[in-house]
Amino acid sequence: MNPDEFRRHAHELVDWMADYMERVGELPVTPPVGPGDVRRRLPASPPAEGEPFGQLFEDFQRLILPGMTHWNHPGWFAYFPGNNSPPSVLGEMLTATIGAQCMSWVTSPAATELEQVVMDWLRQMVGLPDGFVGSIQDTASTATLVALLSAREHASRGATGLRGMSGGPALTVYASQEAHSSVDKGVKLAGYGLERLRRIPTDAQYALSPDALERAIEQDRAAGLEPACVVASIGTTSSTAVDPVVEVAAICRRHGVWLHVDAAYAGSAAIVPELRKRFEGWEQADSIVLNPHKWLLTNFDCTAYYVRDRDALLSAFSLTPEYLRTVHDEQVVNYRDWGIQLGRRFRALKLWFVIRSYGVEGLQAIIRQHVTLAAELARWIDANPEFERMAPVPFGLVCFRYRPPGLAEERVDTLNERLLAAVNATGRVFMTHTRLGGRYTIRLVIGQRATERKHVEEAWRLITEAAEGVESLSP
Ligand SMILES: *Cc1c(COP(=O)(O)O)cnc(C)c1O
Repeated sequence: MNPDEFRRHAHELVDWMADYMERVGELPVTPPVGPGDVRRRLPASPPAEGEPFGQLFEDFQRLILPGMTHWNHPGWFAYFPGNNSPPSVLGEMLTATIGAQCMSWVTSPAATELEQVVMDWLRQMVGLPDGFVGSIQDTASTATLVALLSAREHASRGATGLRGMSGGPALTVYASQEAHSSVDKGVKLAGYGLERLRRIPTDAQYALSPDALERAIEQDRAAGLEPACVVASIGTTSSTAVDPVVEVAAICRRHGVWLHVDAAYAGSAAIVPELRKRFEGWEQADSIVLNPHKWLLTNFDCTAYYVRDRDALLSAFSLTPEYLRTVHDEQVVNYRDWGIQLGRRFRALKLWFVIRSYGVEGLQAIIRQHVTLAAELARWIDANPEFERMAPVPFGLVCFRYRPPGLAEERVDTLNERLLAAVNATGRVFMTHTRLGGRYTIRLVIGQRATERKHVEEAWRLITEAAEGVESLSP
Protein backbone atom coordinates (compact mmCIF):
# COMPACT_ATOMS: atom_id res chain seq x y z
CA MET A 1 0.00 0.00 0.00
CA ASN A 2 1.59 3.28 -1.06
CA PRO A 3 1.05 6.56 0.80
CA ASP A 4 -1.66 7.73 -1.62
CA GLU A 5 -3.65 4.53 -1.20
CA PHE A 6 -3.16 4.73 2.54
CA ARG A 7 -4.52 8.27 2.55
CA ARG A 8 -7.60 7.26 0.55
CA HIS A 9 -8.42 4.20 2.67
CA ALA A 10 -7.71 6.04 5.90
CA HIS A 11 -10.24 8.73 4.95
CA GLU A 12 -12.82 6.06 4.16
CA LEU A 13 -12.19 4.41 7.50
CA VAL A 14 -12.49 7.66 9.44
CA ASP A 15 -15.87 8.27 7.80
CA TRP A 16 -16.92 4.77 8.75
CA MET A 17 -15.65 5.27 12.32
CA ALA A 18 -17.62 8.49 12.77
CA ASP A 19 -20.77 6.81 11.42
CA TYR A 20 -20.25 3.86 13.74
CA MET A 21 -19.93 6.11 16.78
CA GLU A 22 -23.12 7.89 15.78
CA ARG A 23 -25.15 4.76 15.05
CA VAL A 24 -23.81 2.06 17.34
CA GLY A 25 -26.95 2.45 19.48
CA GLU A 26 -29.06 1.07 16.63
CA LEU A 27 -27.08 -2.20 16.46
CA PRO A 28 -27.83 -5.17 18.72
CA VAL A 29 -25.47 -4.85 21.72
CA THR A 30 -24.58 -8.54 21.51
CA PRO A 31 -24.30 -10.35 18.18
CA PRO A 32 -26.73 -13.11 17.20
CA VAL A 33 -23.95 -15.65 16.61
CA GLY A 34 -23.15 -19.02 18.10
CA PRO A 35 -19.78 -20.67 18.75
CA GLY A 36 -17.90 -21.31 15.49
CA ASP A 37 -20.22 -19.17 13.30
CA VAL A 38 -17.58 -16.54 12.47
CA ARG A 39 -14.68 -18.92 12.14
CA ARG A 40 -16.55 -21.15 9.73
CA ARG A 41 -16.89 -18.28 7.28
CA LEU A 42 -13.17 -17.42 7.25
CA PRO A 43 -10.53 -19.18 5.12
CA ALA A 44 -8.48 -21.64 7.14
CA SER A 45 -5.18 -20.63 5.50
CA PRO A 46 -3.66 -17.23 4.67
CA PRO A 47 -3.69 -15.84 1.12
CA ALA A 48 -0.48 -16.40 -0.87
CA GLU A 49 -0.88 -13.12 -2.72
CA GLY A 50 -1.81 -9.71 -1.37
CA GLU A 51 -5.43 -8.60 -1.67
CA PRO A 52 -6.74 -5.10 -2.31
CA PHE A 53 -7.64 -3.23 0.86
CA GLY A 54 -11.17 -2.56 -0.37
CA GLN A 55 -11.84 -6.28 -0.15
CA LEU A 56 -10.43 -6.51 3.36
CA PHE A 57 -12.61 -3.69 4.55
CA GLU A 58 -15.66 -5.22 2.91
CA ASP A 59 -15.00 -8.52 4.67
CA PHE A 60 -14.57 -6.67 7.95
CA GLN A 61 -18.05 -5.23 7.54
CA ARG A 62 -19.60 -8.43 6.21
CA LEU A 63 -17.94 -11.11 8.36
CA ILE A 64 -16.43 -9.51 11.44
CA LEU A 65 -18.71 -6.66 12.48
CA PRO A 66 -21.84 -8.84 12.77
CA GLY A 67 -19.92 -11.01 15.24
CA MET A 68 -18.80 -8.15 17.49
CA THR A 69 -20.11 -7.25 20.93
CA HIS A 70 -20.54 -3.48 21.12
CA TRP A 71 -18.97 -2.31 24.34
CA ASN A 72 -19.48 1.31 23.34
CA HIS A 73 -23.24 0.94 22.88
CA PRO A 74 -25.36 3.20 25.13
CA GLY A 75 -27.27 0.05 26.17
CA TRP A 76 -24.08 -1.44 27.63
CA PHE A 77 -24.82 -2.34 31.26
CA ALA A 78 -22.75 -5.53 31.51
CA TYR A 79 -19.56 -6.42 33.45
CA PHE A 80 -17.91 -3.00 33.84
CA PRO A 81 -17.70 -0.49 31.00
CA GLY A 82 -14.85 -0.60 28.48
CA ASN A 83 -15.10 2.93 27.23
CA ASN A 84 -13.42 4.67 24.38
CA SER A 85 -14.00 8.22 23.16
CA PRO A 86 -13.23 10.18 20.00
CA PRO A 87 -10.04 11.83 21.35
CA SER A 88 -8.81 8.50 22.68
CA VAL A 89 -9.29 6.82 19.29
CA LEU A 90 -7.45 9.68 17.59
CA GLY A 91 -4.57 9.28 20.05
CA GLU A 92 -4.46 5.55 19.36
CA MET A 93 -4.25 6.25 15.62
CA LEU A 94 -1.16 8.39 16.14
CA THR A 95 0.40 5.83 18.47
CA ALA A 96 -0.06 3.14 15.81
CA THR A 97 1.22 5.41 13.06
CA ILE A 98 4.46 6.31 14.80
CA GLY A 99 4.78 2.71 15.98
CA ALA A 100 7.36 3.44 18.65
CA GLN A 101 8.49 0.91 21.20
CA CYS A 102 8.78 2.81 24.47
CA MET A 103 10.80 0.54 26.74
CA SER A 104 13.43 3.13 27.70
CA TRP A 105 13.76 6.88 27.71
CA VAL A 106 16.17 6.73 24.80
CA THR A 107 13.84 4.60 22.65
CA SER A 108 11.24 7.42 22.76
CA PRO A 109 12.07 10.34 25.06
CA ALA A 110 8.73 12.12 24.56
CA ALA A 111 6.71 8.97 25.27
CA THR A 112 8.49 8.44 28.59
CA GLU A 113 8.24 12.06 29.67
CA LEU A 114 4.60 12.40 28.60
CA GLU A 115 3.79 9.27 30.62
CA GLN A 116 5.44 10.90 33.66
CA VAL A 117 3.43 14.08 33.18
CA VAL A 118 0.09 12.37 32.49
CA MET A 119 0.47 9.96 35.38
CA ASP A 120 1.09 12.94 37.62
CA TRP A 121 -1.96 14.75 36.23
CA LEU A 122 -4.09 11.71 36.94
CA ARG A 123 -2.60 11.43 40.44
CA GLN A 124 -3.72 14.98 41.14
CA MET A 125 -7.14 14.32 39.61
CA VAL A 126 -7.84 11.35 41.89
CA GLY A 127 -6.45 13.20 44.92
CA LEU A 128 -3.42 11.07 45.79
CA PRO A 129 -0.58 12.81 47.67
CA ASP A 130 2.46 13.84 45.67
CA GLY A 131 4.75 11.04 46.88
CA PHE A 132 2.96 8.61 44.58
CA VAL A 133 4.48 7.92 41.18
CA GLY A 134 2.67 6.09 38.43
CA SER A 135 3.22 4.09 35.29
CA ILE A 136 0.84 2.74 32.68
CA GLN A 137 0.37 -1.02 32.63
CA ASP A 138 -1.65 -3.12 30.23
CA THR A 139 -4.25 -4.37 32.71
CA ALA A 140 -5.16 -4.34 36.39
CA SER A 141 -4.32 -8.04 36.49
CA THR A 142 -0.73 -7.25 35.52
CA ALA A 143 -0.56 -4.35 37.98
CA THR A 144 -1.78 -6.58 40.82
CA LEU A 145 0.79 -9.21 39.86
CA VAL A 146 3.44 -6.47 39.94
CA ALA A 147 2.22 -5.46 43.41
CA LEU A 148 2.35 -9.06 44.65
CA LEU A 149 5.88 -9.47 43.27
CA SER A 150 6.98 -6.22 44.90
CA ALA A 151 5.42 -7.31 48.21
CA ARG A 152 7.21 -10.64 47.93
CA GLU A 153 10.58 -8.94 47.42
CA HIS A 154 9.84 -6.50 50.21
CA ALA A 155 8.83 -9.21 52.72
CA SER A 156 11.85 -11.38 51.93
CA ARG A 157 14.22 -8.37 51.70
CA GLY A 158 15.12 -9.34 48.17
CA ALA A 159 15.94 -12.97 48.99
CA THR A 160 13.21 -14.57 46.86
CA GLY A 161 14.36 -12.76 43.71
CA LEU A 162 17.82 -14.22 44.25
CA ARG A 163 17.25 -17.65 45.71
CA GLY A 164 13.62 -18.43 44.95
CA MET A 165 10.85 -19.11 47.44
CA SER A 166 12.64 -21.81 49.40
CA GLY A 167 14.69 -21.03 52.49
CA GLY A 168 12.87 -18.25 54.35
CA PRO A 169 9.48 -18.46 56.05
CA ALA A 170 6.49 -19.05 53.75
CA LEU A 171 4.83 -15.79 52.65
CA THR A 172 1.06 -15.21 52.90
CA VAL A 173 -1.44 -12.91 51.12
CA TYR A 174 -4.84 -11.63 52.31
CA ALA A 175 -7.88 -10.43 50.37
CA SER A 176 -11.61 -10.47 50.98
CA GLN A 177 -13.86 -13.25 49.74
CA GLU A 178 -15.17 -10.75 47.19
CA ALA A 179 -11.75 -9.73 45.79
CA HIS A 180 -11.17 -10.13 42.05
CA SER A 181 -9.85 -13.39 40.60
CA SER A 182 -6.73 -11.53 39.41
CA VAL A 183 -5.57 -11.77 43.04
CA ASP A 184 -5.74 -15.59 42.91
CA LYS A 185 -3.97 -15.57 39.56
CA GLY A 186 -1.25 -13.23 40.84
CA VAL A 187 -0.73 -15.27 44.00
CA LYS A 188 -0.32 -18.37 41.85
CA LEU A 189 2.06 -16.73 39.38
CA ALA A 190 4.16 -14.86 41.94
CA GLY A 191 5.05 -18.13 43.63
CA TYR A 192 3.16 -17.68 46.90
CA GLY A 193 0.92 -20.63 46.07
CA LEU A 194 -2.88 -20.55 46.26
CA GLU A 195 -2.84 -22.28 49.65
CA ARG A 196 -1.13 -19.19 51.06
CA LEU A 197 -3.96 -16.87 49.99
CA ARG A 198 -6.32 -16.15 52.88
CA ARG A 199 -9.81 -15.23 51.76
CA ILE A 200 -11.12 -13.02 54.58
CA PRO A 201 -14.88 -13.03 55.36
CA THR A 202 -16.97 -9.97 54.55
CA ASP A 203 -19.76 -8.16 56.37
CA ALA A 204 -23.40 -7.93 55.27
CA GLN A 205 -22.42 -5.33 52.66
CA TYR A 206 -19.66 -7.52 51.18
CA ALA A 207 -16.80 -5.43 52.60
CA LEU A 208 -13.77 -7.07 54.21
CA SER A 209 -13.97 -7.55 57.98
CA PRO A 210 -10.88 -5.90 59.51
CA ASP A 211 -11.08 -7.95 62.73
CA ALA A 212 -11.01 -11.19 60.77
CA LEU A 213 -8.06 -9.84 58.76
CA GLU A 214 -6.03 -9.01 61.83
CA ARG A 215 -6.79 -12.40 63.42
CA ALA A 216 -5.66 -14.19 60.26
CA ILE A 217 -2.40 -12.22 60.17
CA GLU A 218 -1.70 -12.93 63.83
CA GLN A 219 -2.45 -16.63 63.46
CA ASP A 220 -0.14 -16.94 60.49
CA ARG A 221 2.65 -15.11 62.26
CA ALA A 222 2.22 -17.32 65.33
CA ALA A 223 2.50 -20.35 63.04
CA GLY A 224 5.88 -19.11 61.70
CA LEU A 225 4.59 -17.74 58.39
CA GLU A 226 5.41 -14.27 57.05
CA PRO A 227 2.38 -12.09 56.10
CA ALA A 228 3.49 -10.22 52.96
CA CYS A 229 0.55 -8.50 51.29
CA VAL A 230 -3.04 -7.40 51.81
CA VAL A 231 -5.16 -6.58 48.76
CA ALA A 232 -8.03 -4.25 49.69
CA SER A 233 -10.76 -3.50 47.17
CA ILE A 234 -12.47 -0.20 46.55
CA GLY A 235 -15.30 -1.34 44.30
CA THR A 236 -15.39 -5.15 44.13
CA THR A 237 -16.39 -6.71 40.85
CA SER A 238 -19.54 -8.45 42.07
CA SER A 239 -21.15 -5.57 43.94
CA THR A 240 -18.66 -2.62 44.12
CA ALA A 241 -18.24 -3.13 47.86
CA VAL A 242 -15.73 -0.81 49.51
CA ASP A 243 -13.36 -2.39 52.02
CA PRO A 244 -12.64 -0.31 55.17
CA VAL A 245 -9.24 0.83 53.88
CA VAL A 246 -8.47 3.18 56.81
CA GLU A 247 -8.67 0.26 59.26
CA VAL A 248 -6.95 -2.15 56.87
CA ALA A 249 -4.07 0.32 56.40
CA ALA A 250 -3.63 0.59 60.17
CA ILE A 251 -3.44 -3.21 60.44
CA CYS A 252 -0.90 -3.34 57.61
CA ARG A 253 1.23 -0.71 59.32
CA ARG A 254 1.11 -2.52 62.66
CA HIS A 255 2.24 -5.76 61.07
CA GLY A 256 4.61 -4.37 58.43
CA VAL A 257 2.56 -5.78 55.54
CA TRP A 258 2.39 -4.34 51.97
CA LEU A 259 -1.03 -2.82 51.18
CA HIS A 260 -2.24 -2.97 47.59
CA VAL A 261 -5.55 -1.27 46.74
CA ASP A 262 -7.53 -2.65 43.81
CA ALA A 263 -9.75 0.15 42.54
CA ALA A 264 -9.68 -1.08 38.94
CA TYR A 265 -13.22 0.00 38.11
CA ALA A 266 -14.14 2.53 40.81
CA GLY A 267 -10.82 4.40 40.94
CA SER A 268 -11.84 6.75 38.12
CA ALA A 269 -14.70 8.02 40.31
CA ALA A 270 -12.14 9.52 42.70
CA ILE A 271 -11.90 12.47 40.29
CA VAL A 272 -15.37 13.54 41.50
CA PRO A 273 -14.92 15.54 44.73
CA GLU A 274 -18.15 14.37 46.40
CA LEU A 275 -17.24 10.71 45.75
CA ARG A 276 -13.73 11.06 47.16
CA LYS A 277 -14.83 9.97 50.65
CA ARG A 278 -15.27 6.40 49.39
CA PHE A 279 -11.50 6.32 48.82
CA GLU A 280 -10.49 7.30 52.33
CA GLY A 281 -7.35 5.51 53.38
CA TRP A 282 -6.03 4.62 49.94
CA GLU A 283 -3.42 7.35 50.32
CA GLN A 284 -1.80 5.04 52.89
CA ALA A 285 -1.43 2.16 50.43
CA ASP A 286 1.91 0.99 49.08
CA SER A 287 0.41 0.47 45.63
CA ILE A 288 -2.88 1.29 43.89
CA VAL A 289 -4.40 0.23 40.60
CA LEU A 290 -7.17 1.92 38.61
CA ASN A 291 -8.25 1.44 35.01
CA PRO A 292 -8.81 4.50 32.81
CA HIS A 293 -9.76 1.85 30.21
CA LYS A 294 -12.90 1.14 32.21
CA TRP A 295 -14.50 4.41 33.20
CA LEU A 296 -12.20 7.23 32.06
CA LEU A 297 -13.01 7.14 28.34
CA THR A 298 -9.57 5.85 27.31
CA ASN A 299 -9.79 2.81 25.12
CA PHE A 300 -8.32 -0.50 26.18
CA ASP A 301 -5.58 -0.92 27.24
CA CYS A 302 -4.67 1.68 29.83
CA THR A 303 -4.17 0.81 33.49
CA ALA A 304 -2.71 3.31 35.96
CA TYR A 305 -0.48 1.76 38.60
CA TYR A 306 0.75 3.97 41.46
CA VAL A 307 3.39 3.21 44.06
CA ARG A 308 4.41 5.14 47.14
CA ASP A 309 8.01 3.98 47.08
CA ARG A 310 9.54 3.92 43.64
CA ASP A 311 12.65 2.13 44.92
CA ALA A 312 10.63 -0.82 46.23
CA LEU A 313 9.25 -1.24 42.72
CA LEU A 314 12.59 -0.81 40.97
CA SER A 315 14.39 -3.22 43.26
CA ALA A 316 11.88 -5.90 42.29
CA PHE A 317 11.98 -5.25 38.55
CA SER A 318 15.12 -3.52 37.38
CA LEU A 319 17.83 -5.47 35.74
CA THR A 320 19.96 -3.92 33.04
CA PRO A 321 21.86 -6.13 30.64
CA GLU A 322 24.74 -4.51 28.77
CA TYR A 323 22.81 -4.12 25.52
CA LEU A 324 20.20 -1.94 27.25
CA ARG A 325 22.61 0.34 29.13
CA THR A 326 22.64 3.99 28.05
CA VAL A 327 24.54 7.11 29.09
CA HIS A 328 21.30 8.70 30.34
CA ASP A 329 20.33 5.98 32.80
CA GLU A 330 21.20 8.12 35.85
CA GLN A 331 18.98 11.02 34.79
CA VAL A 332 15.92 9.41 33.30
CA VAL A 333 13.09 6.97 33.91
CA ASN A 334 13.27 3.69 32.02
CA TYR A 335 9.78 2.27 32.26
CA ARG A 336 11.00 -1.22 31.37
CA ASP A 337 12.15 -1.35 35.03
CA TRP A 338 8.62 -0.61 36.32
CA GLY A 339 6.93 -3.84 35.39
CA ILE A 340 7.06 -7.22 33.78
CA GLN A 341 7.41 -6.56 30.08
CA LEU A 342 10.35 -5.02 28.26
CA GLY A 343 8.54 -3.64 25.20
CA ARG A 344 5.90 -0.99 25.86
CA ARG A 345 3.24 0.75 23.81
CA PHE A 346 2.89 4.53 23.78
CA ARG A 347 -0.33 4.64 25.80
CA ALA A 348 0.12 8.01 27.50
CA LEU A 349 -0.82 9.85 24.33
CA LYS A 350 -4.46 8.77 24.25
CA LEU A 351 -4.92 9.50 27.97
CA TRP A 352 -3.35 12.95 27.45
CA PHE A 353 -5.78 13.62 24.60
CA VAL A 354 -8.75 12.49 26.70
CA ILE A 355 -7.87 14.62 29.71
CA ARG A 356 -7.21 17.70 27.58
CA SER A 357 -10.18 17.22 25.31
CA TYR A 358 -12.79 16.78 28.08
CA GLY A 359 -10.98 18.69 30.80
CA VAL A 360 -11.15 17.49 34.38
CA GLU A 361 -14.61 19.04 34.78
CA GLY A 362 -15.92 17.34 31.63
CA LEU A 363 -14.79 13.94 32.90
CA GLN A 364 -16.21 14.64 36.37
CA ALA A 365 -19.58 15.53 34.82
CA ILE A 366 -19.78 12.21 32.95
CA ILE A 367 -18.98 10.05 35.97
CA ARG A 368 -21.25 12.14 38.20
CA GLN A 369 -24.10 11.60 35.72
CA HIS A 370 -23.58 7.81 35.75
CA VAL A 371 -23.56 7.67 39.55
CA THR A 372 -26.69 9.86 39.72
CA LEU A 373 -28.52 7.60 37.24
CA ALA A 374 -27.51 4.50 39.22
CA ALA A 375 -28.93 6.05 42.41
CA GLU A 376 -32.13 6.84 40.54
CA LEU A 377 -32.48 3.28 39.24
CA ALA A 378 -31.88 2.03 42.79
CA ARG A 379 -34.85 4.15 43.91
CA TRP A 380 -37.09 2.70 41.20
CA ILE A 381 -36.11 -0.79 42.31
CA ASP A 382 -36.69 0.03 45.98
CA ALA A 383 -40.12 1.42 45.18
CA ASN A 384 -41.22 -1.73 43.32
CA PRO A 385 -42.41 -4.52 45.68
CA GLU A 386 -41.66 -7.17 43.04
CA PHE A 387 -37.93 -6.38 43.01
CA GLU A 388 -35.24 -6.56 45.64
CA ARG A 389 -32.00 -4.59 45.70
CA MET A 390 -29.10 -6.82 46.68
CA ALA A 391 -26.30 -4.39 47.65
CA PRO A 392 -25.56 -0.72 48.30
CA VAL A 393 -24.91 1.47 45.23
CA PRO A 394 -21.77 3.53 45.93
CA PHE A 395 -20.85 3.98 42.22
CA GLY A 396 -22.55 3.02 38.94
CA LEU A 397 -23.47 -0.64 39.61
CA VAL A 398 -26.96 -1.67 40.73
CA CYS A 399 -27.40 -5.26 41.94
CA PHE A 400 -30.97 -6.55 42.14
CA ARG A 401 -33.27 -9.48 41.55
CA TYR A 402 -36.88 -10.10 40.70
CA ARG A 403 -38.69 -11.40 43.74
CA PRO A 404 -42.45 -11.05 43.72
CA PRO A 405 -44.09 -11.57 47.13
CA GLY A 406 -45.11 -15.16 47.72
CA LEU A 407 -42.62 -16.67 45.27
CA ALA A 408 -40.79 -19.63 46.80
CA GLU A 409 -37.09 -18.87 47.34
CA GLU A 410 -35.98 -22.00 45.46
CA ARG A 411 -37.61 -20.70 42.26
CA VAL A 412 -36.13 -17.20 42.44
CA ASP A 413 -32.70 -18.01 40.97
CA THR A 414 -34.14 -19.76 37.91
CA LEU A 415 -36.66 -17.02 37.25
CA ASN A 416 -33.95 -14.39 37.39
CA GLU A 417 -31.75 -16.36 35.01
CA ARG A 418 -34.65 -16.44 32.56
CA LEU A 419 -35.44 -12.80 33.10
CA LEU A 420 -31.84 -11.79 32.33
CA ALA A 421 -31.75 -13.97 29.20
CA ALA A 422 -35.05 -12.52 27.98
CA VAL A 423 -33.95 -8.91 28.45
CA ASN A 424 -30.56 -9.50 26.79
CA ALA A 425 -32.26 -11.27 23.87
CA THR A 426 -33.90 -7.98 22.91
CA GLY A 427 -30.47 -6.79 21.72
CA ARG A 428 -31.27 -3.35 23.14
CA VAL A 429 -29.30 -3.75 26.36
CA PHE A 430 -26.74 -6.11 27.81
CA MET A 431 -26.50 -6.96 31.52
CA THR A 432 -24.67 -9.74 33.34
CA HIS A 433 -25.08 -11.53 36.66
CA THR A 434 -23.23 -12.53 39.79
CA ARG A 435 -24.02 -14.35 43.02
CA LEU A 436 -24.31 -12.43 46.26
CA GLY A 437 -24.69 -14.43 49.44
CA GLY A 438 -25.27 -17.44 47.19
CA ARG A 439 -28.23 -15.82 45.41
CA TYR A 440 -28.43 -15.22 41.66
CA THR A 441 -28.18 -11.45 41.19
CA ILE A 442 -28.57 -9.29 38.10
CA ARG A 443 -25.87 -6.62 37.67
CA LEU A 444 -26.69 -3.43 35.80
CA VAL A 445 -23.72 -1.06 35.47
CA ILE A 446 -24.27 2.48 34.25
CA GLY A 447 -20.94 3.71 32.92
CA GLN A 448 -20.93 3.85 29.15
CA ARG A 449 -19.96 7.28 27.82
CA ALA A 450 -23.11 7.74 25.73
CA THR A 451 -25.59 6.28 28.21
CA GLU A 452 -28.29 8.79 29.12
CA ARG A 453 -31.36 8.71 31.32
CA LYS A 454 -33.52 7.48 28.43
CA HIS A 455 -31.33 4.39 28.03
CA VAL A 456 -31.64 3.54 31.71
CA GLU A 457 -35.41 4.08 31.49
CA GLU A 458 -35.54 1.74 28.52
CA ALA A 459 -33.55 -0.90 30.40
CA TRP A 460 -35.88 -0.67 33.39
CA ARG A 461 -38.94 -0.87 31.12
CA LEU A 462 -37.54 -3.99 29.40
CA ILE A 463 -36.81 -5.56 32.79
CA THR A 464 -40.27 -4.92 34.24
CA GLU A 465 -42.00 -6.05 31.02
CA ALA A 466 -39.98 -9.26 30.90
CA ALA A 467 -40.77 -9.86 34.57
CA GLU A 468 -44.51 -9.90 33.81
CA GLY A 469 -44.14 -12.85 31.49
CA VAL A 470 -41.16 -14.55 33.06
CA GLU A 471 -43.07 -17.30 34.87
CA SER A 472 -44.21 -18.64 31.52
CA LEU A 473 -40.79 -18.34 29.84
CA SER A 474 -39.03 -21.57 29.05
CA PRO A 475 -35.52 -21.98 30.49
C1 LIG B 1 -11.94 -5.30 36.06
C2 LIG B 1 -11.29 -5.59 37.36
C3 LIG B 1 -10.04 -6.20 37.42
C4 LIG B 1 -9.33 -6.74 36.19
O1 LIG B 1 -9.03 -5.74 35.29
P1 LIG B 1 -8.14 -6.02 33.98
O2 LIG B 1 -7.62 -4.67 33.64
O3 LIG B 1 -9.08 -6.56 32.95
O4 LIG B 1 -7.09 -6.99 34.34
C5 LIG B 1 -9.46 -6.36 38.66
N1 LIG B 1 -10.07 -5.95 39.78
C6 LIG B 1 -11.28 -5.37 39.76
C7 LIG B 1 -11.91 -4.93 41.04
C8 LIG B 1 -11.93 -5.17 38.54
O5 LIG B 1 -13.13 -4.58 38.53
